[in-house]
Amino acid sequence: MQLVDTHAHLDEDAFSTDVEDVVARARDAGVVTILTIGITAETSRSALALAERFDNVYAVVGIQPNYASQVQSGDWETIVELAAHPRVVGIGETGLDRYWDYAPIDVQQEYFDRHLDLSRQIGKPFVVHCRDAEADVVAQLRRAAKQGPLNGVMHSFCGDDETAAACLEMGMHISFAGMLTFKKNDSLRATAATIPADRLLVETDAPYLAPVPNRGKRNEPANVVHTARCLAEVRGVELAEIAQVTTDNARRLFRLPVA
Ligand SMILES: [Zn+2]
Repeated sequence: MQLVDTHAHLDEDAFSTDVEDVVARARDAGVVTILTIGITAETSRSALALAERFDNVYAVVGIQPNYASQVQSGDWETIVELAAHPRVVGIGETGLDRYWDYAPIDVQQEYFDRHLDLSRQIGKPFVVHCRDAEADVVAQLRRAAKQGPLNGVMHSFCGDDETAAACLEMGMHISFAGMLTFKKNDSLRATAATIPADRLLVETDAPYLAPVPNRGKRNEPANVVHTARCLAEVRGVELAEIAQVTTDNARRLFRLPVA
């Protein structure tokens, strides 16, 4: 069985002393590829450094919406430069976040558009973070979709059926993280059961929000199997089938070589 963890933050302090072990455990658990995601210019550089260090790690570079108001001069140019690197397979994470409200929404929107434009220009998919901002994200994606189908993913999806349908209609993929396994999230599981198989992805968002049975502990890419198993259960298929489908989808979307 092969799995791809399409969203982790391996550069975070949580992994500073044992990232080699974390990557090795993922490999042992069948996680053939990990995408590590930048949230600032500096962490995007770190993401690329990890992608150059481990042959099964690739980077995604961008400025996460909560950091949009802390951008220094030259930071965006850094993202554009890093984006061209062959070990960088996507742009983001970008999007909108009204939960933390760290950056004014118009600044978040400006950076969201910049990431969408860059993604289209260089032909690498984008990764969307959306928290308490579903309607705004869909509206902004709809504007971008006027130029053609969208090549991107809603990461750690926790929206409703309507949001999922709107994103799917525009060509997006939907990625599920550990929250899918949380006891209270019946409606999210019901939504997950309806997503077309060819648009499904799985991720950990490590080190955050570990899936059951590791909830509350540090999360790591090896745990993506728990989310995949939950997805298989709610869809009434075998884990092996979900692993195959989500791995094929990740390879196609991010143009990953077959590991
Ligand atoms: Zn993330």
